[in-house]
Amino acid sequence: MIQLFLPLNFLGFVYREIRRALTDLENMLGLLNKKPQVTNAPNANTLNVKNGEIAFNNVSFSYNANRPILNNISFKVKAGSKVAIVGASGAGKSSLARLLYRFYDVTSGNITIDNQAISSVTLDSLRKAIAIVPQDTVLFNTTIRENIAYGRPSASDSDIDKAIEMAHLKDFINTLADGDKTRVGERGLKVSGGEKQRIAIARAILKQSPILIFDEATSALDSQAEQVILKAMHEVASEHTSIVIAHRLSTITDAHTIIVLKSGQIVEQGQHNELLALGGEYAHMWALQQQD
Ligand code: ATP
Repeated sequence: MIQLFLPLNFLGFVYREIRRALTDLENMLGLLNKKPQVTNAPNANTLNVKNGEIAFNNVSFSYNANRPILNNISFKVKAGSKVAIVGASGAGKSSLARLLYRFYDVTSGNITIDNQAISSVTLDSLRKAIAIVPQDTVLFNTTIRENIAYGRPSASDSDIDKAIEMAHLKDFINTLADGDKTRVGERGLKVSGGEKQRIAIARAILKQSPILIFDEATSALDSQAEQVILKAMHEVASEHTSIVIAHRLSTITDAHTIIVLKSGQIVEQGQHNELLALGGEYAHMWALQQQD
């Protein structure tokens, strides 16, 4: 019996490790859609997150030398606060997130987390500190529970249950005969966009990172599904430093600071009411979206 058990146990281990690697790959492809081009600096330190304050200091960036994408961007995300990044398609919003995750290095300027330049810390410690809810989450052909557990394979059952609760997945799971053991993905249950995004939120919660990035987390949802996601995001974000990249301004009116990007530059920043009173770019975008 033991002769059979050991190889099977080993195969199980290999299987889980491959799955884990695939999740990491998915995270990269989901938001970042690009292979890493950066490496650890010699003698890189481990990032020591105390509060999770983020600062972009005079950051400029281009993918190709002849086309600037971000121009002299400076802003702070205070520990535990929520900053929204808005602006037209192509303004550079996701590029900011890619730089924070160090999928690319800045061309000039620097980014710090709790006063440590992210270029001077190990990629591993940096990426552990950041959880991302990408625009389009890929689910694997396994159970809902296992899909969530990818966020942190060592998580306890009660941690997974808590993540399910916080991501407002419980009611949905209760409607399924096999509950969270229901298989999803291509060969399983086809879940809706909103359910998929809540699974991504549960995964991110489970990762227990001090910094959260929501990249268009409520895009393409009907307003009822959007409200559920917003509620989940709101509760989760209240415990983290969070950056929310949004098209629909109605989803970020509660942000502590809203940053308006236009052609790679910050043109306005402030709270929702302040920006409306300013009567500029944000107010214009708001008015257009209200008509819709
Ligand atoms: P959206 O709202 O449509 O997601 P965005 O504001 O997030 O847009 P980014 O994805 O940051 O914009 O892209 C900013 C600019 O950088 C765009 O003009 C885009 O074409 C360009 N860009 C994005 N990724 C790459 C890349 N890998 N190589 C070259 N240019 C890129």
